[in-house]
Amino acid sequence: MALTIKRPNGTEDVIPKNIYKWHTVERAAREAASGYGFREIRIPTFENTELFQRSVGETTDVVQKEMYSVIAKETKFTLRPEGTAGTIRALMQNGLLNEAMPQKVFYILSCFRHERPQAGRLREFHQFGVEMAGSSLPSADADIISLASDIINTLGIKNTELKINSIGCPKCRAEYHKALKKYFEDKKDKLCETCQSRLEKNPMRILDCKSPVCSEIAKDAPLILDYLCDECAEHFEKLKFYLDNLDIKYTVDPKIVRGLDYYTKTVFEFVTTDIGAQGTICGGGRYDGLIEQLGGQKTPALGFAMGLERLIITMENQGISFDSDMGCNLYIAPMDDNAVPHAMKLAKSLRDEGFWVEYDVVGRGLKSQMKYSDKLGATFTMVLGDNEITSKKARLKNMKSGEEIEIALDSSFVQNFSNIAVGEMFNGVLEDI
Ligand code: ATP
Ligand code: MG
Repeated sequence: MALTIKRPNGTEDVIPKNIYKWHTVERAAREAASGYGFREIRIPTFENTELFQRSVGETTDVVQKEMYSVIAKETKFTLRPEGTAGTIRALMQNGLLNEAMPQKVFYILSCFRHERPQAGRLREFHQFGVEMAGSSLPSADADIISLASDIINTLGIKNTELKINSIGCPKCRAEYHKALKKYFEDKKDKLCETCQSRLEKNPMRILDCKSPVCSEIAKDAPLILDYLCDECAEHFEKLKFYLDNLDIKYTVDPKIVRGLDYYTKTVFEFVTTDIGAQGTICGGGRYDGLIEQLGGQKTPALGFAMGLERLIITMENQGISFDSDMGCNLYIAPMDDNAVPHAMKLAKSLRDEGFWVEYDVVGRGLKSQMKYSDKLGATFTMVLGDNEITSKKARLKNMKSGEEIEIALDSSFVQNFSNIAVGEMFNGVLEDI
């Protein structure tokens, strides 16, 4: 029978044999985030559509073209296209912004965007992200950039470039918008339809348009850095000073505007040249106006998100090894039905100590049980028949060396097995060195 229903375009399955790659990346991100004082938050997969319209912005590609929205029971919902809006909503709704500042949270979640699927660009993808609320100082910007940089370095990822820019505040933006409008006015007819409508509402969005025609036209557009007010310019200078202080290399790229409307002042990206066109592995920045825009008290905030698929592809392309998952420690092979309850109990006693132990639950003969244990990659196997049960002694076979040792099946079993198994793990480590 052939499977007639396949997974939707742009989605992926992670099968158990590949999950260690995800665990490696998630573990590195979690550990680094904890060291910087960020705590995990979990938010719903869908939100009221209005949340994204009001935060990500009506004129962005994400809202205009990429959202998965449904009307369910007369309410309009959207699968989250990113994590910031929902996280900030959750901080507000749970009163966390009234507690000690700054509030610092991280998340690992799936996002949904209707894009053209290609390597590193999916319709369901995963992000690790952090958000910090309650600091307006550039030291906070440096802090989160340092965290992102630490995660990338811990994973061993090379050839990345940190690009930073400032896109100013509403005050500097007003002047800049005027200049952009003036620049695009006589080129309006050549812009794509979406950008033509953006010209009036939000001309900066044109700079982020993926259409090659629009990007070509936008090439010589005025740069936001030339329009920063004193406060924004000073914030940017201070950030650069702090990054230098932490020895974090960066380049100023005045063309980065980011694809989400809520950003103010600092924006940044970590880009790699090793995974083709979708090279942005991390994007973030400050969004001082967002909380107020969502009905809260004016509270400065900032954050970033990394695409987990892109981190993994980058590591694969760079030949970086992932932490290997623990393998099966012991496979117990009952010779007949009579031995099964004994196998069960022995397995349980070791599982209670955290070992991965399996026994036959399919009813295979001894030979095919051994084949199966080989497939599992079990470190040890132990055959259990009437002899072993009556004598309370069995032979523990080391599958790599072929060596067999006798082990008593009495109250000393767990301790003895632990000693042998841990010794073997140690051997493995020494070999790796
Ligand atoms: P891009 O310019 O590549 O479209 P973006 O600016 O839309 O990215 P953000 O909204 O800032 O991306 O999301 C943060 C990170 O999430 C990106 O840097 C990227 O690593 C990842 N990401 C974004 N969209 C996708 C996608 N469709 N598939 C896989 N990863 C994605
Ligand atoms: Mg995008």
